[in-house]
Amino acid sequence: MGQGDSQLVRFTDASGTFHMLIDTGEREYANGLLQALRALGVDRLDALVMSHPHSDHMGGMGEILEQMPVDRLYMPVVPEEYAPTTVSYEHVLDAASETGLPVIRLVRGSQVETPASLTVQVLSPEEDADWEELNNFSAVLRVSYGETSFLLTGDAEGEAEAQILEHVSDLHAQVLKCGHHGSSTSTTASFLCAVAPDYAVISCGADNPYGHPHSETLARLLDAGVQVLRTDEDRTLLFSTDGKQLTVIQGLPSMEGGP
Ligand SMILES: [Zn+2]
Repeated sequence: MGQGDSQLVRFTDASGTFHMLIDTGEREYANGLLQALRALGVDRLDALVMSHPHSDHMGGMGEILEQMPVDRLYMPVVPEEYAPTTVSYEHVLDAASETGLPVIRLVRGSQVETPASLTVQVLSPEEDADWEELNNFSAVLRVSYGETSFLLTGDAEGEAEAQILEHVSDLHAQVLKCGHHGSSTSTTASFLCAVAPDYAVISCGADNPYGHPHSETLARLLDAGVQVLRTDEDRTLLFSTDGKQLTVIQGLPSMEGGP
C-alpha cells in the first residue's frame, strides 16, 4: 500500500484459524485493505497491532476497527510527551472505546495471545525507554512457528535495534521486515548479523520522496548475502511455512497508488 506498512499473519491448526493484522497503512487504503482481507476470508481479527502511531502505519486503523470485529488491540507503550494528537490516532482510540475494546500496551516481554504452537515475542520497546524518535518506540515482534521465524520491526531504528541486541539473545529469523522502509538509520550491520535472515522485506512506495530504501541499507543487505524483496517492485508478498520449509510468492496485487 504505497509507502505504508501492513502485514497479515494467518495461522491455521486443528483449533481453528488465527488472524493478526499488523499496521494498516494510510487512511486512503482502508477500503482496499478491508476488501483484500474479506477476499482472503478474514471477517474478524484475533489481534490488531499498531506498530507505532504514524499515519503510514495506522492512518486507516480507525476505519478497520469500525468495519471489522477485533478481539484484541495492541499498541506499544509510548511516553506521554510523544503521544500523538493526530486525527487518525484519536479515531483509533475512539473506535476502540466505542466497542469497549481495551488497548493492550506492549513492551519487551509482553504477551500477545496466540494459538499454542504459534509464538509472538515482543522484543521492543523497552519499558521507560528514553528516545527522541517516535519510530524507535515501534513494537518489534518475532513471530515463530516450528523452526521458522519472522521479525517484524515497524519503523524501529538503530537505537532500538541496539537495545534489542543487548537484551535478546536469539534474534534469528528467516524473514526480516526491515525497519523504517529501508532507511539507512535502520537495519544496522550488527542487527542484521544477529538476525541473519534469508529474506529482507522492504516496504516502500514507488518513487517515494524519502529515497527509501537507502543505498546504504541495500549495500548492507547485499554484503550479508540476503535476498531483498521490495514492495515497490515485488508488490504484495506471501510467505508460507510448515514450520520447516519457507516459500515466498511475490508479485501479488498491491494497492500502489491508492484506491
Ligand atoms: Zn513508516
